[in-house]
Amino acid sequence: MGLLEAFLDGEQILIGDGGMGTMLIAGGQSPNDCLEWLNTGEPDAVLAVHEAYVEAGADVLSTNTFSGNFPRLASYGLAERMRDLNLAGARLARQVADGAGREILVAGSVGPAYPPSDSGDFPYRDVVNSVSTQCRALAEGGVDFIFLETMRSVEQVQASLEGVRSAGGLPVFCTMSFHYRGRTASGLAPADAILALGSMTLRAFGVGCGAGPADNEEILRKIFSEEPKFPVIAQSNAGLSRREGSAVVYDVTPEEMAAHALRCREIGARYFGGCCGTTPDHIRAVARALRG
Ligand SMILES: [Zn+2]
Repeated sequence: MGLLEAFLDGEQILIGDGGMGTMLIAGGQSPNDCLEWLNTGEPDAVLAVHEAYVEAGADVLSTNTFSGNFPRLASYGLAERMRDLNLAGARLARQVADGAGREILVAGSVGPAYPPSDSGDFPYRDVVNSVSTQCRALAEGGVDFIFLETMRSVEQVQASLEGVRSAGGLPVFCTMSFHYRGRTASGLAPADAILALGSMTLRAFGVGCGAGPADNEEILRKIFSEEPKFPVIAQSNAGLSRREGSAVVYDVTPEEMAAHALRCREIGARYFGGCCGTTPDHIRAVARALRG
């Protein structure tokens, strides 16, 4: 049985990878540039991050395509390169996974398909179309499943699922970010998310990014109070970033991340990764704590 089936059947946990964007930026890339461009422009930078996560013990590599959607790429003048940047991103992760000497899953990372500042009407059709185009390229590049990350509303998950379906229907994992006093940016509470998403075709669901480990443990408890029928994901950031001079700093240490993962396991989570500010050292500590 493969790793994905074993996870979905409840026989295995999965150790995810950690931050990609924050690793690339820590490695010298500008936060103002399009990080997805690196998939073809500087593939070695992306490969190095994937390799570090394999070495740290991750079971899953997430493609460097979080913002590979139409509105975000268009803001960099790269809309026409949507297919090839996503395809290249999938191939880079696949290449490292296939060369690892053990089974590693590749998750096609799909972030919110509209600009973070957008407060207007939810562009449902635009999201369907963008996710469809993105996922077709990710599927062609060989991803094992689609990872909808840091979603904010039920409508957004619904539109994204429709997009994935029209791209051939890969399995879908999904996280939401509950960083506004325990709710998403659209005001959705964790228990309501479970009730609304329960009938959808998600294979795993949980918390991604957010306000940090302690907050996310609270969110996870609320998720479990609704008895979710899918495996639950804990993918916290290393706390909220703060500035120290010109540097962006995250305070949660690898040891604290490992302790957080153990508490998440007690609460019931079965997928353990990291988001912004987490590094291969964080994932190594998490893998050691969970695997002994
Ligand atoms: Zn994050």
